[in-house]
Amino acid sequence: MALVVQKFGGTSVGDAERIANVARRVVDRHRRGDDVVVVVSAMGDTTDELLALASAVSRDPHPRELDMLLTAGERISMALVAMAIEDLGVPAMSLTGSQAGILTTADHGQAAIVDIRGDRVRAGLAEGKVVIVAGFQGVDPHSKDVTTLGRGGSDATAVALAAALGADECEIFTDVDGVFTADPRIVPEARKLPEISFEEMLELAGAGAGVLMARSVEFGRRYGIPIHVRSSFHDGEGTWVKEDTMEAAIIRGVAHDTKEAKVTVHGVPDEPGIAARLFEPLAEAGINVDMIVQNVSIRGVTDISFTVPKASTQRARAVADEVAQAIGAAGVDIDEDIAKVSLVGAGMKSESGIAAKMFRILADHGINIEMISTSPIRISCVVRGGQVVEAVRSLHEGFGLAESAPIGAAADA
Ligand code: ASP
Ligand code: MG
Repeated sequence: MALVVQKFGGTSVGDAERIANVARRVVDRHRRGDDVVVVVSAMGDTTDELLALASAVSRDPHPRELDMLLTAGERISMALVAMAIEDLGVPAMSLTGSQAGILTTADHGQAAIVDIRGDRVRAGLAEGKVVIVAGFQGVDPHSKDVTTLGRGGSDATAVALAAALGADECEIFTDVDGVFTADPRIVPEARKLPEISFEEMLELAGAGAGVLMARSVEFGRRYGIPIHVRSSFHDGEGTWVKEDTMEAAIIRGVAHDTKEAKVTVHGVPDEPGIAARLFEPLAEAGINVDMIVQNVSIRGVTDISFTVPKASTQRARAVADEVAQAIGAAGVDIDEDIAKVSLVGAGMKSESGIAAKMFRILADHGINIEMISTSPIRISCVVRGGQVVEAVRSLHEGFGLAESAPIGAAADA
């Protein structure tokens, strides 16, 4: 008898029919003799709709109240899924994040899970019930206020719960068939990966691949919980995210991100302490800086460019303007028409010439590279927003990612 955590995303619980379908899948697993804990997201676009409602009534919604509002989305789906399961003759019980003992930091909208008690989850399982837990939420044990974990946070709930309960596996049911070599909406030849390492998945998620929230992958890695990303619409195998993969690909996939903007501070004095004076207040403002490039200085003056999420552009501009004034910089520029394209693969560590090949492919397609950043297993380039589709397609093709794994690789093993 196994203990499995099954997470269903917003599309998978998007309407009554789909909820009935989820209930059938859960009940099938339960009837095989396994203990099942279900984590659900809010139905369809509920979270976006609630956010829009909040902005309609308040210019700057109070973070505590915003979390109260948003956690309602998952509360709706958890109760509906529980009812649908009961209807199939299997006892079920839903729990809010707080009831499930998911304890978090106090950072509303971006809380981190610090501990999972899970007593009521275990008690429910011991009574033979399917336990449904609301994703994306927890409680700050000091203030007793409910918190949310950041967009896409139900993935983190699922994997963290799997770790806390010592589950055998964590299944993430979603509206795609698994993790692909590139976004299949823009690269029709993209191939579903049978498996990918935690390390690679973390880089892909950080580079804009939306299929799994990065923090959930970190939990999986830290606690050794294999994650199976699969379709909620059919029974086919998806992608296994795990520690070691049998196929050692040089390049696992191409990711792209159009959600960042580039900020450039011009005419910055090239002196010790200037970068710190710029990036400290950005960090204090909670702005997530991604790439940073400082140009060669000419006559003691230089430019510093960095990327931030488009959602933080206004705040980043305000901070950068203030710092620019204080340090006597020439001015601040914001460019929202950029995109980031990234190549990810653990095999890069031991293979030379990957960056050169990437730059050559982009050059041959007339794509200018504006910024570059690397990790041991990733190379990212900022390009014009209008060229990102071509960049992704040409890299996917140039690195032969559509061809399936070599013989002897782990596909379907
Ligand atoms: N409902 C939340 C969101 O849309 C959490 C999730 O879907 O995982 O971000
Ligand atoms: Mg969602």
